[in-house]
Amino acid sequence: MDTKKRMEQLRTMFERVVDPLGYKFSPDEEIVEFLLEQEVMLEKENGSPYCPCQGLTGERDHDMKLVCPCIPFHREHYDAMKRCWCGLYVHKDVKDPDSLIQIPLKEFLESRNKE
Ligand code: SF4
Repeated sequence: MDTKKRMEQLRTMFERVVDPLGYKFSPDEEIVEFLLEQEVMLEKENGSPYCPCQGLTGERDHDMKLVCPCIPFHREHYDAMKRCWCGLYVHKDVKDPDSLIQIPLKEFLESRNKE
């Protein structure tokens, strides 16, 4: 299938999944286009639209948690950043995605353990 067409299909499907979770596509349309295109490429190579920013290991249980949108598997971490790891999705109230910082998982877990 044509890449652009598939990108639009994924956009529609993903929106339905992330909306009830309190997320929306980033207002940075350039990032959204780039990441969706990468996901279509990954889908062509691997059969699913995997995350462009997180490495696959070849272990099914691990890799299935990296099929976009992976928010349900990483909810607490992403909620703390108000964005997913790649920045494809942000919390609905976010207007300036550049103001959000990526918190490495290790750092997030350490800060949570201190609470
Ligand atoms: S980090 Fe974002 S773009 Fe990557 S798979 Fe998860 S939800 Fe999708």
